[in-house]
Parts: sequence; structure tokens; C-alpha cells
Amino acid sequence: MSAIEVKNLVKTFPIRGKRGHTFKALDDVSFTLRKGTTLGVVGESGSGKSTAANIILGLLEQDSGDVIFEGVNVSELSKKERFAMRRNLQVVFQNPYGSLDPMYSIYRAVEEPMRVHNWGTKKEREERVAQLLDMVALPRSAMRRYPNELSGGQRQRIAIARALALKPEVLVLDEAVSALDVLVQGQVLDLLAQLQRELGLTYMFITHDLAVVRMVADHVAVMRDGRLVEQATTDEVFDSPREQYTKDLLDAIPGGKFLLGL
Ligand code: ADP
Ligand code: MG
Repeated sequence: MSAIEVKNLVKTFPIRGKRGHTFKALDDVSFTLRKGTTLGVVGESGSGKSTAANIILGLLEQDSGDVIFEGVNVSELSKKERFAMRRNLQVVFQNPYGSLDPMYSIYRAVEEPMRVHNWGTKKEREERVAQLLDMVALPRSAMRRYPNELSGGQRQRIAIARALALKPEVLVLDEAVSALDVLVQGQVLDLLAQLQRELGLTYMFITHDLAVVRMVADHVAVMRDGRLVEQATTDEVFDSPREQYTKDLLDAIPGGKFLLGL
């Protein structure tokens, strides 16, 4: 069963200072997120990973192509229906400062999506914030703190708590652990795996780190220059990559074969 199907996405951006010239960031990209599983999306910087994610999240509009969410074409929804649907799709970025306002307390940051979507009474939201902090294994006292008082790993746990506030079905993790050191990265990955099991979440896990993808993904989509080069199960991609580009990516991992247990 697919949670999200992306079909033939095309996205061009104007090139600054060159009137009439455009740059194709996505060129006929299709892939599927299967319910309750993790799709790893890999590829060099600039290959179009975030552009695809931002279209799925409704932060960018495609030139053509479709995003199908649980069988419904998003472009056929009214504005109001789209807003309601977006509750089901949340995102965690690499830099939690992007979503955590330094002026807002942790409480306010985690509560905000619930207020925006008019979820619950004040008391219910208070209870939900406490519950969310439990879910990401942070002490409840953290709600009185501010982002700059927390470590990078703690901030990323807060970003996850905030993303989970409205009980979404799909989480887009755009380089969400890439800025963390290896030990903390492992802890956050463990947390994400546990949350996926408990809540049945579907993950779009974007990373340039193939060692991480091997650990977390069920399927892998390989992107290059706005195109989808290869899409298969994680084992297939790592054990018998079909495309030369994928082989080159695998060969480029420092200490690669050893780290990946190949
Ligand atoms: P990735 O996430 O794989 O690193 P992106 O999707 O962010 O790549 O970017 C793909 C390409 O599109 C890059 O060349 C980037 O410079 C370009 N791009 C992304 N967003 C914009 C934008 N808003 N305006 C112009 N070019 C953009
Ligand atoms: Mg990106």
C-alpha cells in the first residue's frame, strides 16, 4: 500500500540574472513511499532531493506531474482540503533553527502546529506537549527551555516532537541527522526507528550519507542532476547496483565496503 506516489515531477527554476533561462531541478521524477516503511533518497548535493521533498510538502509547486496522497491527487483538492491533508505530512530539516525560533520556548515550539491547526483545548495541548517530550525521551522540564540551551541532538528531538504533534502519517527527514556527530546520530536514528514501529510512520529519509541509508531504508531512490537514476530495495541497490552512477557513489564512501559490512 502506498502512502505517497510521485509521478513524473518536473520543476524548473529561473536562473538569476539570465532572463528567460531556466534550470531543470527535477526532470520526470517518479517514486513511491510505501506505508510504514522508509524510502531513502540519496544523491549528491544539488541533485534535486529537497526540491522533490518540498513539492510533496506543498512548500513548492511543480511545473507538471502529480503527487498522490493515499490515492488522492493533491492537485484536485481544494485549498481547505489541502490544508487539512498537510497535517498528515510533516518535516524535520537538517538545521532545527529553521523550524525552531530562538525566541520561542520549547513549549511554544512544540505546541505551535496544534495552535495553527486549532487542535484541542489549551489543557489538551499542554498534555500533548508533555506526551511528545516523553515520546522523544526528553525530560518534561525541557519545555521551559530555549533552543540555544539545548544540544544539537536535543534540538533535533524537539524538531521531531514538533513534527509529530498532529499525529502525521508521513515524515520527511531532510538531512535530519546529517549535522550530528556519529554517536548522537545513532541515538536519533534509534529513536526514529522506534517511533516508526510504534506509530506506523512512513519516512522519506533524505541523506547524502549512504552508510546511514543502508541502516535505515527499506527502499532507496538514487538521484542525479534532477533525475531518478535507480530505485529498488536497499539490499538490491547496495548488493547489485544496476547503474554505474550508483556504483560510483558506493565506491566513493570512505572506508565504504567495510563500514557497510559488504
Ligand atoms: P539537494 O537537496 O539534492 O541538494 P536541491 O533540491 O536543493 O538539491 O536543489 C536542486 C537544484 O535546484 C540545485 O542546483 C539548486 O541550486 C536548485 N534550486 C533549488 N531551489 C532553488 C530556487 N528556489 N531557485 C533556484 N534554484 C534552486
Ligand atoms: Mg537538500
